[in-house]
Amino acid sequence: MPDKWLVGVDLGGTTTKLAFINTYGEIIEKWEIPTDNSELGKYITVNIAKSIDQKLEELGQIKQNLLGVGMGAPGPVHYETGVILNAVNLGWEDNFPLKDLLEAETSLPAAIDNDANCAALGEMWKGAGNGAKDLVCITLGTGVGGGVIAGGNIVQGVNGAGGEIGHITAIPKGGAPCNCGKTGCLETIASATGIVRLAKEELAKTNASGELKDRLDQNGSLTAKDVYDCARNGDMVAAKVVDEVSFHLGLTLANIANTLNPAKIVLGGGVSKAGDRLLEPVKRYFDQFAFRPVRKSTELALATLGNDAGVIGAAWLVKKHSEHL
Ligand code: ZN
Repeated sequence: MPDKWLVGVDLGGTTTKLAFINTYGEIIEKWEIPTDNSELGKYITVNIAKSIDQKLEELGQIKQNLLGVGMGAPGPVHYETGVILNAVNLGWEDNFPLKDLLEAETSLPAAIDNDANCAALGEMWKGAGNGAKDLVCITLGTGVGGGVIAGGNIVQGVNGAGGEIGHITAIPKGGAPCNCGKTGCLETIASATGIVRLAKEELAKTNASGELKDRLDQNGSLTAKDVYDCARNGDMVAAKVVDEVSFHLGLTLANIANTLNPAKIVLGGGVSKAGDRLLEPVKRYFDQFAFRPVRKSTELALATLGNDAGVIGAAWLVKKHSEHL
């Protein structure tokens, strides 16, 4: 009899990633389907259930070998009830009973959490966390997501909104508007979108020439990768933007570390592909602002699972859940 499998699902606005994962956290099979958010998102859970059945058939496996399905969802989730509070990108109405529907469609036990929390759990279990039970994960992508793990458990907070590192206010006065309705959130600076915004503002302000300006003129737009590449090549404007981003990230992460003293703070998401060029300057500011015993014991590290963190963390959720049954 084969080892029982877990289903990990990472639900995104355009693509849903799925994987069969064994109880050791090893991916057996992974695949993707488009997310159909038409008609108020009524097909999303049905399509996931159908896709799981199809893949089982392809692999010659039976459903009895699945322990359950875990899912990371893009929005605040009430962990106990599996209700997603709001998810505008998916077409669902507020307080959508995601866990109940997923269980009904798949006939499997389900566990749901926010996608950034799932990425943090994935990194804790099989990635940069290397089993650390006290871990903070920050995902630098289109937005900035966060997951805080204390004693092996996600810090949910009283309303499921714990660990929202992206919405820590970095610029108290005169900051840029954030998607959340506030201004000056860390997300407006340290997301890929924020980095590009800062670069364009800086170019407009200084009227400087250089590689960054040339790339903007040639392509009509910039990416966060352009900014980090040009900074490496010695472009002064790009270097200034990287320094500003690093300052705010280093300061925020130091304050989080001063509060929690985690074993590791893991930086993931698309921006983290800059590798040490992201990490090293953030570390310098982190060291400046971290309380000395914290500086000596909390390590900053790059995420190692890439796009698989979400499905692996989602599988971990259902593994933990099934242990309690
Ligand atoms: Zn915000």
